[in-house]
Amino acid sequence: MSLLIRGGRILDANGERALDVEIGDDGRIAAVGTGLNGDLDLDASDCVISPGFVDLHTHLREPGQEEAETIETGARSGSLGGYTALVAMPNTEPTTDCVAVVEQVRALGRRSTCEIVPSAALTVGRSGTKMAPLGELVDVGVGIFTDDGTGLQDPRLMRRVMEYSTGLTRRLGRPVVLAQHCEVSALSAGGYMHEGEWSSRLGIPGQPAEAEELMVMRDIALVRLTGAHVHFQHLSTASSVAMVRRAKAAGLPVTAEATTHHFTLTDAACATYDPVFKVHPPLRTGSDVDAVRAGLADGTIDAVATDHAPHAAHVKERPFDEAPPGMLGLETAFALTLGESGLDLPEVLAVLSWRPAAIAGIEGRHGASVVPGAPANLCVVDPDLTWTVSGAAMASRSSNTPYEGRTLRGRVRHTISAGEPVVIDGEARR
Ligand SMILES: [Zn+2]
Repeated sequence: MSLLIRGGRILDANGERALDVEIGDDGRIAAVGTGLNGDLDLDASDCVISPGFVDLHTHLREPGQEEAETIETGARSGSLGGYTALVAMPNTEPTTDCVAVVEQVRALGRRSTCEIVPSAALTVGRSGTKMAPLGELVDVGVGIFTDDGTGLQDPRLMRRVMEYSTGLTRRLGRPVVLAQHCEVSALSAGGYMHEGEWSSRLGIPGQPAEAEELMVMRDIALVRLTGAHVHFQHLSTASSVAMVRRAKAAGLPVTAEATTHHFTLTDAACATYDPVFKVHPPLRTGSDVDAVRAGLADGTIDAVATDHAPHAAHVKERPFDEAPPGMLGLETAFALTLGESGLDLPEVLAVLSWRPAAIAGIEGRHGASVVPGAPANLCVVDPDLTWTVSGAAMASRSSNTPYEGRTLRGRVRHTISAGEPVVIDGEARR
């Protein structure tokens, strides 16, 4: 069966043009032009046809915490958000730190509506003490490693992992990316929100910005020493952004992401004591939010990620100090980035699609320009449609969105994953 996306404007890394897109039954773009035909028509009037989005940072919770999310429900949530590829974080139970768990995640992913790209832990069990079998993992195609949830604390082990990764990069001829959750645990321990004016006013113990910044500083120094590619996850402070800006200017092989919540919310949100606003790294100050936006504007921050972190209600609704950190992100990312990042639409699509695809090493399949022969991983977005956020209405198995009740502008209308229309007119098809 062939598909025709009719009446929209294509917007990709090549720019913008008003053309229809025909998708063949081989899952690839058959033709781009006018006067095309398909067995099924998808209306794209007043909409933009973009390469599908790529999330560098998704917690799918499977295996191990299926009460909060499964690969199937997380992928459906991603499809509704315009994503065609999700990089799955390895803090599963068991940890994704060996070939067997990677293959399990991939097998579950193949039945889902997004391409699931497993990342693997830097250290065995994310313990921070012993390097994971990186060589075996890159041989089965893993390209991103992270102990996300915690940073790798030991600088000597981080240096060794970096040196080992540069050897693997040379052997493979493709980059091995070490993604770091920057947080010095000894400084952040016992803190539940950003340390500052709001934490003292609310009487909630805080985590200082320096807990993040010291690890950003250390890893930039180790990148200079080793030449490894480090990707900074969820940058949240003004100094972190400034350090990455300088590292890039010096030509170091670093990349960075920011989450939607770190440029749309501040620590003032914690004044409600609602644990839905508890997240690591914590929501920061207004000037940090401004710095993250400036980092997106000048390319210091390469990509917007979600850090989609579902939690079952009975766990997330504990008191602020006991509740686990994390919030949903997949279904709100496009509207928030369009409305609040300060970027214009072409830049929004770049930070959601082709830039993260390149970091993940999947640019051949995702984020590719909309031309005949390219894999049909696409989304069709309506930049002007307004809608109201409802956690209960989301496809995620959890509902911990900090944007409940907010009216946002910009919504995903259709998503096509490997040629299959998995979302039509804002509804998941399976
Ligand atoms: Zn993290």
